[in-house]
Amino acid sequence: MIYADNASTTQLSKGAFESMLPYLSSDYGNASSRHMLGVRAQNAVKLARNQIANAIGAENSEIIFTSCGSESNNLVLQSVSTNLSTDKETHIITSSIEHHSVLSTCSMLEKRGIKVTYLPVDGRGVVSLSDVKRALRPSTKLISIMLANNEIGTIQPIAEISQLIKDTGILFHVDAVQAVGHIQVNVSNLGVDFLTASAHKFNGPKGSGFLYIRSGLKLHPLIYGGEQEFGIRAGTENVAGIVGMGYAIWESVKLIDYESCRLKEMVKETIRGIKDTVETFLINGDSDNKLPGILNISLNSISGQSLMHILSMKGICVSTGSACNSLSDEPSHVLLQIGRPKNIANSQIRISYGRYNTLEEVGVIVREISSSYKKIKNLL
Ligand SMILES: *Cc1c(COP(=O)(O)O)cnc(C)c1O
Repeated sequence: MIYADNASTTQLSKGAFESMLPYLSSDYGNASSRHMLGVRAQNAVKLARNQIANAIGAENSEIIFTSCGSESNNLVLQSVSTNLSTDKETHIITSSIEHHSVLSTCSMLEKRGIKVTYLPVDGRGVVSLSDVKRALRPSTKLISIMLANNEIGTIQPIAEISQLIKDTGILFHVDAVQAVGHIQVNVSNLGVDFLTASAHKFNGPKGSGFLYIRSGLKLHPLIYGGEQEFGIRAGTENVAGIVGMGYAIWESVKLIDYESCRLKEMVKETIRGIKDTVETFLINGDSDNKLPGILNISLNSISGQSLMHILSMKGICVSTGSACNSLSDEPSHVLLQIGRPKNIANSQIRISYGRYNTLEEVGVIVREISSSYKKIKNLL
């Protein structure tokens, strides 16, 4: 089996797995308990919070644990909207290529009377500063833009946007789920107020995410109850998940430079190989300013779904855009937004390399894509 769908999820690293084991067996205490077993859990959670804070240049007290990236995104968007008096207009700015955990939340908020602007992107998938500027209103309370896109890997000019809205009092949230552990992420350099990440995208466990909340800012909980997570997120901590996430972020950040070179080389090699055998194909997204491991291509007028299934039968896992879209036949909103016509959007496949892929695997992927492509072509 070759797994090249790391933008959907990643394999749990061995170190992260082992770090979790005690908290799934002998050290099962509740981190809120005052006795010995509770304190052990509490200390483990404290260490993980510190590892995460260090990884993104934050303070420990600025990190809260959630169940996933989707929850962190929901928490910010919903909380900022309910913070506000209902008689006045509340306006949110986001982009049209966000993850569905942002877009679906925004569309729910619109039904509750919140105004939302969805910024367009250019052909590479980049939001323009002048569009941000033009979208600003006196009632704008929040801007939510992703750091890196999950389908095409494009990186947004987050620091420039935060510079632009400095002194306006507008809150700035960044969905950095695809970026954390893969490119350098520092909350001060980015100048953001909130930042979302999720462990299973950087070789940590599923069901464990976090939200950075700039010191001094307050959010209403989505989940009310106990005083866990500074009163912002009730519920007994997922200690093993949190510990695994702490280990995984430490390990990923340590490996960033090395992995980034390796992944770029694998993407380059894939493009070179496919160029040799497939007459025409398009690369979707920016070829420079993007995540190192993601390659999204549209092969000349063949269905991405068919290609994905043929590759899957050969033991190769790639995807057609985002995992969240794969159950519907609608073309990807991201590809449509970067200006691809429907047929090109439907012929996309996304190869996303990760820590456990090798150059040999790239060779196999290229060979199998080429032969599958020819097979499908001959059937047409
Ligand atoms: C995966 C992903 C999410 C959702 O994270 P989960 O932990 O799976 O809920 C949000 N945003 C982006 C950009 C993602 O890639």
